[in-house]
Amino acid sequence: MNKILTNKEQKDFIYSILEPNLKFKKEDGSEDKHAISRFQKENNLEVTSKLDEATFKKLMDQVNGFEDYIIKKDDKLFDLMKRKKSLCHKTLTANPKLNPFLLNEGQSIAIPYNKNVVPTHLNYTYDILEMNLKSLSKRYPFIKVDSIGKSVDNRALYRVRLGKGKKRVSFNGSHHGNEWITSLFLMVWLENFLNVYSYKGYIKGYSTAKIWNRVTLDIIPMVNPDGVELVTNGLKNIIRNRNRLYRWNNYQTNFSNWKANINGVDLNRNYDANFNGYKKVEKEMNIFGPSPALYSGDFPGCEPESKAMIETTLENKYDLMMAYHTQGEEIFYTPITPSNNDSNYQMALELSEISGYQLAVPDVSQAYAGYKDWFVTQFKKPGFTIEAGKGTNPIPIQQLPIIYEQNEAMLLKALYM
Ligand SMILES: [Zn+2]
Repeated sequence: MNKILTNKEQKDFIYSILEPNLKFKKEDGSEDKHAISRFQKENNLEVTSKLDEATFKKLMDQVNGFEDYIIKKDDKLFDLMKRKKSLCHKTLTANPKLNPFLLNEGQSIAIPYNKNVVPTHLNYTYDILEMNLKSLSKRYPFIKVDSIGKSVDNRALYRVRLGKGKKRVSFNGSHHGNEWITSLFLMVWLENFLNVYSYKGYIKGYSTAKIWNRVTLDIIPMVNPDGVELVTNGLKNIIRNRNRLYRWNNYQTNFSNWKANINGVDLNRNYDANFNGYKKVEKEMNIFGPSPALYSGDFPGCEPESKAMIETTLENKYDLMMAYHTQGEEIFYTPITPSNNDSNYQMALELSEISGYQLAVPDVSQAYAGYKDWFVTQFKKPGFTIEAGKGTNPIPIQQLPIIYEQNEAMLLKALYM
């Protein structure tokens, strides 16, 4: 007899990810036994109408978007794919050494399901990001996932590397906690790119294979995972600075205005670009210490997250950098030379045209100590802050489709330039 799963938090987590398709929960919040038994039947599980361990494992496979499978005697790839709701192409992508005509009994393979794994219907958390990265590296083993460091609260600062070209590019998101939708956007973009690249296809006229050969792209989807955690889940999973965070947040448990890391330092004010100039502006804004936003910290790069960004940027010497923020539907650029006619400006114009986002030179309170400001000053290479979406942060998930539409081709174009 299968053990019944009782951990409510775990259940809710899985339901929240799969719910739009599964409908295991009735309107009153109780479990729909019929839906569960239907799922069990469909997946050749013992029908218990309860969320038991075997069912839970199957659900986790659904969340992960693949299952591990050991090849049995007389298995044929095509029949297996049909049974597992996968495609030969997807399985061969995930298992590049697999010979489709000669399956070896006892061989362990990953079978990806014919669906995307990055969920687009709920607030994007660090835990989901971590799961998605594991799934994507199983489904698309030609990417490399590692981390450039750890956050204050010991979360990984993940980096995904793709492509094998000379041109070095960095895309990054969520310097600010309440801008988690930028992490989600980058992950949706990444998954779509990988899927299309797996058959060397085109997206909006751009050849993914050409991009792959010309560019080495680093995506750092969540520069500030602790900040995102605070905004999406409150204090419950935060270990360090809990009491102080509560105080810095004006004794509110809702952290939706939180931009900083969990030392109360605004990471996008913690770079060595007119840092001392910003210190004066900061005081004029009555900010004298750790805050939900705009406090720049003791010195440039004093936080582990910004320090890791500085180190990895110096090491990789990117030719192009795009930092994602919300909101405003604008592209901020810093002129490389005082004239408004350098390559940075020309490129900004083209990106503005393709996205429909307005071009903007930052005003005084925005021009200091940001990652993009530092990047452009340091390397004299094009670097942009993209302010995606419109409204009040955190931008609601409902804006994801429009953000995707406005930004998808812009990133492809930037890689092509
Ligand atoms: Zn921001």
